[in-house]
Amino acid sequence: MKRIITLVLCAALLLSALACGVSEREDERPLVVCTIFPQYDFVRQIAGDRVNAVMLCKPGSEVHGFDPSLQEMAMILNSDLLIYVGGETDEWVADLLETNGRHLSAVALIDLVDTVDEERKEGMQGKAEDEPEADEHVWTSPENAIRIVNGLCDALCELLPQEADAMRANAAAYVSKLAALDEDYRAVMRSAKRHTVVFAERFPFRYLCDELGLDYYAALPGCSSNEEVALSTMSFLIDRVRELKLPGVFVIEFSDGRIALSIAEATGCEVWLLHSCHNVSKEDFNAGVTVLDLMRQNLESIKKAVE
Ligand SMILES: [Zn+2]
Repeated sequence: MKRIITLVLCAALLLSALACGVSEREDERPLVVCTIFPQYDFVRQIAGDRVNAVMLCKPGSEVHGFDPSLQEMAMILNSDLLIYVGGETDEWVADLLETNGRHLSAVALIDLVDTVDEERKEGMQGKAEDEPEADEHVWTSPENAIRIVNGLCDALCELLPQEADAMRANAAAYVSKLAALDEDYRAVMRSAKRHTVVFAERFPFRYLCDELGLDYYAALPGCSSNEEVALSTMSFLIDRVRELKLPGVFVIEFSDGRIALSIAEATGCEVWLLHSCHNVSKEDFNAGVTVLDLMRQNLESIKKAVE
């Protein structure tokens, strides 16, 4: 917290130096800073190049525990709109908003949907006495993604009212694709033979599983670091895979897959990737991969798990 305040003060000083004509902002377009990939992608779909959208966490990087540099802090203070997730991982944003004297326009994704708390499921590693936190992975269900796109569209239209009609049309087009995807998920679930999945991994998919009516077991809670998993957690998950005769377990992007490989070795099950969309690789980022693309890929993995 102290470090954040110091950083904010330094950033404010840097900013006032910039404002005194040391350097002018080169890009005339509104600067929209997005902390992580989902909202960056949504802004891109809605506003296109009408805004200068910047993703704060670099592609391919671990977004949990992100710590903005002085330059990044100055960029946020100089932005026209900050879009962050909210919740535990983004505590530094709350500090920034509170500490900062000047008004900073900001939208938190968790304020655009109804949140639920992270669950402590049977077998999951972690301290039982930990207070449950609101699950911040709100974008993982198509239904929520639609709400978020609509909410971000409102904020962008407020920022650029002269472009509102075009941006609302873009948002509507993207929402209709998300709605079609949502319908495809529901169709898969209507013919599902299994209704339980296992994450050999941390679990940032509460909203998706809730929407699909999927029960789950997982090694670790949503945003925990990939810590060593206890033998008891491992054997609990192996027992569930055997008992429920599950054909596979899930890992998420950037995982080392250690837990999944152990389970696969013990049970002969497969390992499937499910994108949480926290971030994408540099390659995917440069190729313009979207949240919708990744959710489409997820649908194929879910199909394998429930058929
Ligand atoms: Zn997370």
